Amino acid sequence: MKQLPVFDGHNSWKHTLHTHSSFCDGKQAPEKYVASALDKQMEVLGFSSHAPIPYPPGADALNVFWCLKTNDIWSYTETINNLKTIHAGKLDIRLGLEIDYIPHVMGPNHPVFRAMQLDYCIGSVHAAGTNPDGTIWTVDCEPDKFIEGINRMFGGSVERAANEYLRRIREMVVEQPPDIIGHIDLFKKNNTSLDFLDESARWYRNAVYETLDAVAASDCIIELNTGGMARGYVDQPYPSLFVLKRCRELHIPVMINSDAHHPDAVMAKFDYAIELLRQAGF
Ligand SMILES: [Zn+2]
Ligand SMILES: [Zn+2]
Repeated sequence: MKQLPVFDGHNSWKHTLHTHSSFCDGKQAPEKYVASALDKQMEVLGFSSHAPIPYPPGADALNVFWCLKTNDIWSYTETINNLKTIHAGKLDIRLGLEIDYIPHVMGPNHPVFRAMQLDYCIGSVHAAGTNPDGTIWTVDCEPDKFIEGINRMFGGSVERAANEYLRRIREMVVEQPPDIIGHIDLFKKNNTSLDFLDESARWYRNAVYETLDAVAASDCIIELNTGGMARGYVDQPYPSLFVLKRCRELHIPVMINSDAHHPDAVMAKFDYAIELLRQAGF
């Protein structure tokens, strides 16, 4: 496998390994993202469609509209590999997936994803529980659904919900370590509108630090993800500055990814991200 770029304090960052196209919930065909990346003189463009979540069985019609369809796995693979060949020497295109870790259901080590011979994978936890209809409850859902889930599954305790979210990330890192960990503090997404989480609370910091200790003992890279910020959901990237500072202390490698869902956004907020990493000591 080709090495993945990590941030080393240089001024420019012309890579993104986190891109969603029309194969999942992205807005346009992969070719459009390639054109945008070429236009911006990028060096590396990695495609990372949301891996299929065939859970519960038959759930395709429920809440997994944002994922690659199981039947499209091979056309996705072929499309991205063709683009690699077409643009060889001009742009380093890579085939990846953003794979959900759901305990006892799926994760980065699933044999189907291995069979795709990916160049890399992003392991993400979006779900911290289950909806009444059996589908996954994702922490980046709409605010009302978020509150409903915290009340129903965690007795209204934000602390219990956050701990379960971060526990899942630790479990993924130990049991099915991905190359890159996606948006490690996605749990905070709804904080902008709901103001439910005090990120300086001792219990939260301890849970985050425990999670980073697990990451430091692995070979995983943490991404600084500008997607939520670029789309206006949060006013800071994932993860927050205090998390990045701890990454630096623990020598955890970090990369910047745009999590773009539109071709125009392949490098969105990268200047801000670089500045934040500087503040964190990178
Ligand atoms: Zn994600
Ligand atoms: Zn993503």
